[in-house]
Amino acid sequence: MSKLEVRQIPVLRDNYIYLARDDATGACAAIDPAVAEPVLDTLAELGWQLTHILNTHHHHDHVGGNLELKRATGCTIVGNAADAARIPGIDVRVADGDAFALGTRVAKVIAVSGHTIGHIAYWFADDAALFCGDTLFALGCGRLFEGTPAQMWQSLSRLRALPGETRVYCAHEYTEANAAFALSIDPANRILAERAATVRARRRRGEPTVPSTLDEERRTNPFLRADDAALAKAAGLAGRDPVSVFADIRKRKDYF
Ligand code: ZN
Ligand code: FE
Repeated sequence: MSKLEVRQIPVLRDNYIYLARDDATGACAAIDPAVAEPVLDTLAELGWQLTHILNTHHHHDHVGGNLELKRATGCTIVGNAADAARIPGIDVRVADGDAFALGTRVAKVIAVSGHTIGHIAYWFADDAALFCGDTLFALGCGRLFEGTPAQMWQSLSRLRALPGETRVYCAHEYTEANAAFALSIDPANRILAERAATVRARRRRGEPTVPSTLDEERRTNPFLRADDAALAKAAGLAGRDPVSVFADIRKRKDYF
């Protein structure tokens, strides 16, 4: 049985670049390479060869290494067809619902506008791995730079519907600050309090808190629970519709 091997490369202040490799064929993708050099170093260490870049969205801390990596390795760059003008060096244009083959492993493309218009996620269903960029974070979600709360809520609802064991490979280590915010609006959530303590301990030891699982996120991430009456009540928003609950807590996070 072939499988997807994943390596996590911390770069810049709090970004994660991922390498995902099909161990059967050696096909290897860098997901959201903010910078090139740490990727090239890691590839050399592992003896892996880069064949692809998968971009989730156009922000510089996700595409900044595209062109240098393409020059150095000849890799193929994959991104959203609808946002192709903003993805440097794009070769393969994908759209919502497409299946993209990385060797024997297959990623389904899921359109998740909100953080930006044209943000996409890559879901390797058989490998229980979701690369979701700046849409869903551990205990949080991306800021709304271009989309509306309704778009982001719909996008998060799509991700939320994936299987619980799915590992959530998000693009930033924001979990500790996200946990403090989540506790501020949902202080009676015991599972959340336990998770927050674990997160703080891991960060004290300098360890990553990513990936999490979708099951954990569904129980503790307030941005996936805007349609949960208990969460709305805890946030002082009882009776409001999910989009308005989501919009309200997303705005509070901006100023937290
Ligand atoms: Zn971004
Ligand atoms: Fe980012």
